[in-house]
Amino acid sequence: MNMSKQFDVIVIGGGAAGLMCALTAGQRGRRVLLLDHAERVGKKILISGGGRCNFTNLQVEAAHFISANPHFCKSALSRFGPNDFIALVEKHGIPYHEKKLGQLFCDGKSVEIVNLLLEECRLGGVQIRTKCSVEKIEPRNIGESRFALQTNLGGYETESLVIATGGAVDPEDRGDRSWI
Ligand SMILES: Cc1cc2nc3c(=O)[nH]c(=O)nc-3n(C[C@H](O)[C@H](O)[C@H](O)COP(=O)(O)OP(=O)(O)OC[C@H]3O[C@@H](n4cnc5c(N)ncnc54)[C@H](O)[C@@H]3O)c2cc1C
Repeated sequence: MNMSKQFDVIVIGGGAAGLMCALTAGQRGRRVLLLDHAERVGKKILISGGGRCNFTNLQVEAAHFISANPHFCKSALSRFGPNDFIALVEKHGIPYHEKKLGQLFCDGKSVEIVNLLLEECRLGGVQIRTKCSVEKIEPRNIGESRFALQTNLGGYETESLVIATGGAVDPEDRGDRSWI
């Protein structure tokens, strides 16, 4: 008997990217599960912008991004740009200010942005499992199930799988922290 739980979308990684992806899919009516091996999601957001999260910039254009496919940024930004995120921040009543060069920061703490993302996930019916380690991912083509995941919390199956586990750490990279 198959005891795996079935989802339309599983997102591995509950950082800024994974949370946005999960809430968007959830609010489109998809059954979404977000998994993270950490004890809480959005940890990097908490330390971002020196604790106040530089959540967007008034001037964001495709030309500001380096990509092997420059058209991707054009397409992505035409569908969700800074004003869309600012609208979300205002919907949640989060006070913010412009620091310099169009950089927008919370007046308060970055946790307000994490709470915004979690509330939007809740509205989209996203299920979140923390302290969840993925042990195995296998391709599967049975009905709508295309991936089978084994985790320390049990088995899951999904039609779409998103891996949003952050970037690889480059030991040579001193990091551009100009947003702080
Ligand atoms: C000090 C600092 C300040 C910053 N300030 C800003 C700022 O103000 N504004 C800004 O735009 N950017 C800022 N950044 C950059 C920003 O934090 C990152 O670009 C952003 O968080 C990347 O989001 P992400 O979702 O791709 O990855 P991450 O935030 O790294 O999230 C990845 C998630 O995946 C989980 N994960 C990883 N591996 C696994 C696994 N095998 N199984 C399950 N889960 C896994 C992790 O626990 C984590 O929750 C800052 C970065 C730093 C370090």
